[in-house]
Amino acid sequence: MEKMSENTTKIRKIGILTSGGDAPGMNAAVRAVTRYALRRGIEVMGIYEGYKGLINGKNYIKKFDARDVSNIIDKGGTIIYSARCPEFKEKEGIAKAAQTCRDLGIDGLVTIGGDGTFRGAYDLSTMFGIPCIGIPATIDNDITATDYAIGYDTALNTTMQMIDRLRDTCESHARCNVVEVMGNNAGYIAIYSAVAVGATAVAIKERTFDEDAAIKKIIQCREAGKRNFIVVISEGANINAEEFAKKIQAVTEDANMEIETKFARFAHVVRGGSPTMRDRVTAAKMGVAAVDLLLDGKTDMFMCERHGRIVGTDIMVATYADRKYKATFDPKMAEKFDPSEGDKFSPEVRAEVDGLVAERIAEIDTMLELSENISNYKIVE
Ligand code: ADP
Repeated sequence: MEKMSENTTKIRKIGILTSGGDAPGMNAAVRAVTRYALRRGIEVMGIYEGYKGLINGKNYIKKFDARDVSNIIDKGGTIIYSARCPEFKEKEGIAKAAQTCRDLGIDGLVTIGGDGTFRGAYDLSTMFGIPCIGIPATIDNDITATDYAIGYDTALNTTMQMIDRLRDTCESHARCNVVEVMGNNAGYIAIYSAVAVGATAVAIKERTFDEDAAIKKIIQCREAGKRNFIVVISEGANINAEEFAKKIQAVTEDANMEIETKFARFAHVVRGGSPTMRDRVTAAKMGVAAVDLLLDGKTDMFMCERHGRIVGTDIMVATYADRKYKATFDPKMAEKFDPSEGDKFSPEVRAEVDGLVAERIAEIDTMLELSENISNYKIVE
C-alpha cells in the first residue's frame, strides 16, 4: 500500500534527522541519503538533535554538502545527534516543526529512528502536509513490519563477543554467568545471542520462563561435567536477572554443588561501536530507496526489509502490525488491542499483517527451540 503526498510541490530540498534511541549505522544512513539526494540534484539540510532541532529551527540546521558526511560511514552514534522530544508529541510542537520546514524551504524529510520516530513523522505529514519517509534504525529490531532494522547486527555481534569473553572466564573458574542483554521489550538480541554463544538458558518477555527447569538443567549439566554456564535474560523479560543469579547460586549450594554465579548487565555499551557490514549496506540500500520514494511523491512510509528485499510500508499498517503482534504476548497490549482496528485496511493488507505476525512468532519459537536443541545434554529421565 503506497500513499501519495498531497503536497504537490516538487521536492527540491530535503531535511534529514535521527531521533529516538541511537543505533550503529545511523551515520551510514545519513551519508547515503545525503550523497544520493545531492546526486539527484536535491539540496540536503542536516537537522541536529532530531525533532528538537526541527522545532528550534535555524541554529540546529545546517546545509549539507557531500563533504559534511565524509568519514562517518564506519562511525557509531549519529553525527547529527539524537534526542527524545516530548514537545513533538503535542500539536503546537509539531506546528513549530512544520513552520521550520516552510521557513527553510524543506519540502520533505527523511527520519531515521524507531517506531516513535515514525509516528512523529506521520503526525507532521498528515497534520501539516510535510512528506516524510522513515528509515528503521534500532538495535532492538522491534518493528514488526521489517525483518531488519539498522544497528541490530552490530548490537548482536557486540553482545555475542562480550558473552564469549564471559564464557572464557566461566570455563576457567567453573562459574555461571547470568547476562542481561538489551532489546527493550523484544527478545531478539537475547535469542540470537543465546544460540550464538551456546547459552544454557534464555529468558525473553515473549515467552514464559521456567526458572526451576533452567536450574535443574544447570545442575544436570554440571553432573555431566560441564564447567561454564551462560544464562541470557532479555531486559524486558519478566524476571529479575540479578536475583536469578543469586537464586542459581543458592539452589546449587543447597544441592551441594556450589556453582558460583555472577551477574552482568551490558546495557548501553552495545549501542555504540563501528557498524558491521550488514548495517552499513542496509543503511546504503534504505537511504537510497527513501530518497527515491520522496522524489516519487510518496509519504507516511518507511523502508522495510522483507525476505532480503527493500520495500516501502505504510506507517499506519506497520503500527497496526506492531500492536497485533505485541498483543500475542503482552497482556497490557492485549487489553488495549482492538481487532476491529484492522477493518480500515483491505483484506489483502490484513492478510499481509497476519503473515508478518505469524513470521515473528515462528522466528521466536524456532530460535528458542534451536537454542535448546544445541545446548542441552540429552537428559534421560
Ligand atoms: P524511537 O524512534 O526509537 O521509537 P521514541 O519512541 O523515543 O524513539 O520516539 C522518538 C521521538 O519521536 C520522540 O521523542 C517524540 O519526539 C517523537 N514521537 C514518539 N512517539 C510519538 C507520537 N506518538 N506522536 C508524535 N511524536 C512521537
